[in-house]
Amino acid sequence: MFDYCYECGTKLEIKELEHEGLIPFCPKCKEFRFPIFSSAVNVVILNKEQTKTLFVKQYGIDNYRLVAGYINKGENAEEALIRELNEELGVSPIEFHFQRTIYFEKSNTLMINYYALLDNEEVYPNYEIDSYKWFDLDEGIEAIKKASLASICYNYYLEHRK
Ligand SMILES: [Zn+2]
Repeated sequence: MFDYCYECGTKLEIKELEHEGLIPFCPKCKEFRFPIFSSAVNVVILNKEQTKTLFVKQYGIDNYRLVAGYINKGENAEEALIRELNEELGVSPIEFHFQRTIYFEKSNTLMINYYALLDNEEVYPNYEIDSYKWFDLDEGIEAIKKASLASICYNYYLEHRK
Protein backbone atom coordinates (compact mmCIF):
# COMPACT_ATOMS: atom_id res chain seq x y z
CA MET A 1 0.00 0.00 0.00
CA PHE A 2 1.42 3.43 -0.92
CA ASP A 3 1.47 6.03 1.85
CA TYR A 4 1.97 9.11 -0.33
CA CYS A 5 0.24 10.43 -3.43
CA TYR A 6 2.25 9.50 -6.53
CA GLU A 7 1.23 12.78 -8.21
CA CYS A 8 1.86 15.38 -5.49
CA GLY A 9 3.52 13.56 -2.57
CA THR A 10 0.81 14.41 -0.03
CA LYS A 11 0.21 11.81 2.68
CA LEU A 12 -2.77 9.71 1.69
CA GLU A 13 -5.85 9.31 3.83
CA ILE A 14 -8.12 6.31 3.81
CA LYS A 15 -11.60 7.05 2.55
CA GLU A 16 -14.70 5.04 1.79
CA LEU A 17 -15.37 4.63 -1.93
CA GLU A 18 -18.81 3.41 -2.79
CA HIS A 19 -18.84 -0.29 -3.83
CA GLU A 20 -15.02 -0.50 -3.38
CA GLY A 21 -14.49 -0.16 0.37
CA LEU A 22 -11.68 1.77 2.05
CA ILE A 23 -9.28 3.20 -0.55
CA PRO A 24 -6.27 5.55 -0.18
CA PHE A 25 -7.32 9.13 -1.00
CA CYS A 26 -5.24 12.25 -1.69
CA PRO A 27 -6.83 15.25 0.09
CA LYS A 28 -4.90 17.71 -2.12
CA CYS A 29 -5.67 16.17 -5.54
CA LYS A 30 -9.08 15.03 -4.26
CA GLU A 31 -8.54 11.73 -6.05
CA PHE A 32 -8.56 8.13 -4.96
CA ARG A 33 -5.12 6.57 -5.41
CA PHE A 34 -5.42 2.87 -6.07
CA PRO A 35 -2.24 0.91 -5.30
CA ILE A 36 0.27 0.63 -8.16
CA PHE A 37 1.92 -2.63 -9.16
CA SER A 38 3.82 -4.00 -12.16
CA SER A 39 2.50 -6.53 -14.68
CA ALA A 40 4.48 -9.24 -16.39
CA VAL A 41 3.87 -12.25 -18.59
CA ASN A 42 5.37 -15.67 -17.99
CA VAL A 43 5.02 -18.44 -20.52
CA VAL A 44 5.02 -22.24 -20.45
CA ILE A 45 6.68 -23.01 -23.78
CA LEU A 46 5.76 -26.22 -25.60
CA ASN A 47 6.47 -27.91 -28.89
CA LYS A 48 3.58 -28.09 -31.32
CA GLU A 49 2.66 -31.68 -30.31
CA GLN A 50 2.61 -30.57 -26.64
CA THR A 51 4.91 -33.42 -25.65
CA LYS A 52 7.93 -31.29 -24.65
CA THR A 53 8.51 -28.09 -22.72
CA LEU A 54 11.38 -25.62 -22.80
CA PHE A 55 12.82 -24.07 -19.64
CA VAL A 56 15.60 -21.50 -19.43
CA LYS A 57 18.27 -20.46 -16.96
CA GLN A 58 18.96 -16.75 -16.56
CA TYR A 59 20.93 -14.17 -14.60
CA GLY A 60 23.44 -16.73 -13.31
CA ILE A 61 20.75 -18.53 -11.26
CA ASP A 62 20.95 -22.30 -11.41
CA ASN A 63 17.18 -22.96 -11.51
CA TYR A 64 15.15 -23.58 -14.63
CA ARG A 65 12.43 -20.99 -15.11
CA LEU A 66 9.81 -19.89 -17.61
CA VAL A 67 10.44 -17.17 -20.16
CA ALA A 68 9.04 -14.02 -18.58
CA GLY A 69 9.10 -10.27 -18.94
CA TYR A 70 7.50 -7.06 -17.79
CA ILE A 71 4.70 -5.53 -19.80
CA ASN A 72 5.62 -2.06 -21.05
CA LYS A 73 3.28 0.85 -20.45
CA GLY A 74 0.87 1.04 -23.38
CA GLU A 75 1.45 -2.57 -24.37
CA ASN A 76 -1.10 -5.33 -23.87
CA ALA A 77 -0.15 -8.71 -22.39
CA GLU A 78 -0.42 -10.52 -25.74
CA GLU A 79 2.01 -8.08 -27.37
CA ALA A 80 4.43 -8.47 -24.45
CA LEU A 81 4.33 -12.26 -24.81
CA ILE A 82 5.17 -12.13 -28.53
CA ARG A 83 7.89 -9.51 -27.95
CA GLU A 84 9.52 -11.50 -25.13
CA LEU A 85 9.58 -14.73 -27.13
CA ASN A 86 11.12 -12.87 -30.06
CA GLU A 87 13.69 -11.06 -27.92
CA GLU A 88 14.74 -13.91 -25.67
CA LEU A 89 14.33 -16.95 -27.94
CA GLY A 90 14.21 -15.46 -31.44
CA VAL A 91 10.92 -17.20 -32.25
CA SER A 92 7.22 -16.41 -32.69
CA PRO A 93 4.61 -18.74 -31.18
CA ILE A 94 2.19 -20.47 -33.57
CA GLU A 95 -0.50 -20.13 -30.90
CA PHE A 96 -0.80 -19.16 -27.25
CA HIS A 97 -3.46 -19.38 -24.56
CA PHE A 98 -4.09 -17.62 -21.30
CA GLN A 99 -3.84 -19.81 -18.19
CA ARG A 100 -4.08 -17.80 -14.96
CA THR A 101 -2.66 -14.88 -13.01
CA ILE A 102 -0.65 -14.89 -9.78
CA TYR A 103 0.32 -11.86 -7.69
CA PHE A 104 4.02 -12.10 -6.79
CA GLU A 105 4.55 -10.07 -3.64
CA LYS A 106 8.38 -10.01 -3.70
CA SER A 107 8.46 -7.83 -6.82
CA ASN A 108 4.94 -6.33 -6.45
CA THR A 109 4.04 -7.83 -9.81
CA LEU A 110 0.91 -9.40 -11.23
CA MET A 111 2.16 -12.33 -13.32
CA ILE A 112 -0.07 -13.16 -16.28
CA ASN A 113 0.56 -16.74 -17.26
CA TYR A 114 0.13 -18.24 -20.75
CA TYR A 115 1.23 -21.36 -22.54
CA ALA A 116 2.57 -21.04 -26.08
CA LEU A 117 3.32 -23.53 -28.85
CA LEU A 118 6.40 -23.32 -31.06
CA ASP A 119 6.43 -24.70 -34.58
CA ASN A 120 9.66 -26.63 -33.94
CA GLU A 121 12.41 -26.98 -31.35
CA GLU A 122 14.83 -24.54 -33.00
CA VAL A 123 15.32 -21.44 -30.85
CA TYR A 124 17.85 -18.61 -31.05
CA PRO A 125 18.36 -17.37 -27.49
CA ASN A 126 19.77 -13.89 -26.86
CA TYR A 127 22.31 -12.77 -24.24
CA GLU A 128 19.65 -12.80 -21.50
CA ILE A 129 19.47 -16.60 -21.61
CA ASP A 130 22.32 -18.50 -19.94
CA SER A 131 21.08 -21.86 -21.18
CA TYR A 132 17.88 -23.65 -22.17
CA LYS A 133 16.71 -27.22 -22.44
CA TRP A 134 13.74 -29.14 -23.81
CA PHE A 135 12.21 -31.66 -21.42
CA ASP A 136 9.60 -34.36 -21.80
CA LEU A 137 6.55 -33.19 -19.85
CA ASP A 138 7.22 -35.65 -16.99
CA GLU A 139 10.87 -34.64 -16.80
CA GLY A 140 9.73 -31.02 -16.60
CA ILE A 141 8.05 -31.64 -13.25
CA GLU A 142 11.39 -32.79 -11.80
CA ALA A 143 13.48 -30.13 -13.55
CA ILE A 144 11.67 -27.13 -12.15
CA LYS A 145 12.10 -25.85 -8.59
CA LYS A 146 9.30 -27.09 -6.32
CA ALA A 147 6.73 -24.49 -5.19
CA SER A 148 8.27 -21.81 -7.43
CA LEU A 149 6.08 -19.52 -9.50
CA ALA A 150 7.31 -21.41 -12.57
CA SER A 151 6.25 -24.77 -11.12
CA ILE A 152 2.80 -23.45 -10.16
CA CYS A 153 2.24 -22.31 -13.75
CA TYR A 154 3.73 -25.46 -15.26
CA ASN A 155 1.62 -27.73 -13.05
CA TYR A 156 -1.45 -25.67 -13.92
CA TYR A 157 -0.77 -26.42 -17.57
CA LEU A 158 -0.38 -30.16 -16.88
CA GLU A 159 -3.60 -30.33 -14.84
CA HIS A 160 -5.73 -28.39 -17.34
CA ARG A 161 -4.46 -29.51 -20.72
CA LYS A 162 -6.87 -31.35 -22.98
ZN1 LIG B 1 -2.06 14.22 -4.59
